[in-house]
Amino acid sequence: MTDRFTILDAPEEFLSAPLRLTTDLSAIADNWREMARRSGKARAAAVVKADAYGLGIEDVGQTLYRAGARDFFVAVPAEGATLRPYAPEARIFVLSGIWPGQEEIFFENDLVPVIASEEQLAFWMAVLTERGPYPCALHVDTGFNRLGLPMADAMALVDDVSRPASLDPVLVMSHLACGDDPTSPMNRRQLEKFQEVSEAFEGVDSSLSASAGIFLGSDYHFDLTRPGIALYGGEAVNGARNPMQPVVKAEARILQIRDAKAGESVSYGATHLLSRDSRLAVASVGYADGYLRNLSGSGIALRDTGFPGAEGVIGDKRVPVVGRVTMDLTIFDVTDLSENAVRSGDYIELLGPSMPLDDVARAAGTIGYEMLTGLGLRYERIYLEGED
Ligand SMILES: *Cc1c(COP(=O)(O)O)cnc(C)c1O
Repeated sequence: MTDRFTILDAPEEFLSAPLRLTTDLSAIADNWREMARRSGKARAAAVVKADAYGLGIEDVGQTLYRAGARDFFVAVPAEGATLRPYAPEARIFVLSGIWPGQEEIFFENDLVPVIASEEQLAFWMAVLTERGPYPCALHVDTGFNRLGLPMADAMALVDDVSRPASLDPVLVMSHLACGDDPTSPMNRRQLEKFQEVSEAFEGVDSSLSASAGIFLGSDYHFDLTRPGIALYGGEAVNGARNPMQPVVKAEARILQIRDAKAGESVSYGATHLLSRDSRLAVASVGYADGYLRNLSGSGIALRDTGFPGAEGVIGDKRVPVVGRVTMDLTIFDVTDLSENAVRSGDYIELLGPSMPLDDVARAAGTIGYEMLTGLGLRYERIYLEGED
């Protein structure tokens, strides 16, 4: 696995980068094919909202399109417009739906609005009356209480004679609240409701499951699945072995190695007291790079004290964060490494094949999704392409 991240012809400017983020596009393609396989008879879409979970919608979108994805989900129309040239023949669904003033960006980029409220539906019908037929999706709420038409309203629409003939849903969808917990009774409750919706909209494709729901079994697959986090190597199901390939590696350069004495303190607030003479490595990464302050080694108020702080990896050794993470800098305890194992200028792996994304996220009391989408703008980005 580590071999995948070997960079052979790295440009000079990349080698000098204080921070680098390596995205393995062939692993994303493999993960999509794996989710498509696990979706059984259903087609697998690809969710690329929030700049493909922070990894870059252009490169990621093109990779997924080449792998065979023909249905994409974005959150807002601008993301769909950015994706369009990289996914020319694909259907691009916009999860936030359509608002007055957005008609042009939808029509010009051939984006499909996901209609999610009565208000949007009324607006959309007015648009259709002027424009004529244009596809849409309907999001029906089955218990999440985020977006979605109330179930009764969606069902009423099926037989509504006053609805314009041009209202042409190509998809009905809903979203699971507890898909990441296979033991939750909520899953079956939502499934049963969605089955009713799916049957009512006979002949229209239906979609219920994001990454986690795909693992709940074939009942949950319907016609189209919507994997996101799993494509990027993240954990979809709580407490289960993650079968996805790691995709991202984030590294920071070590700016200096310093010796400090037992009894001295480290970083803001002087909250971390050294219990022994120590060697400290100061890395060029901080909370401005999404290396969250909650990853600090000790002494952060307002954090669940159960978390001991994060670790990075140098060579094949894990080294803990000591003291508070600051805006641009983080300090790691490298006392236990041999003298020559680390020098200034070396990179420390913050997350990647040796330091799973979700382990780092847990150390901060959050989830991989938030880590990925918060990585920030300072990383030099490199994309590894596979042979295909
Ligand atoms: C984000 C999102 C997805 C993808 O979820 P993952 O957990 O990342 O697979 C699917 N459907 C909807 C409605 C979403 O908002």
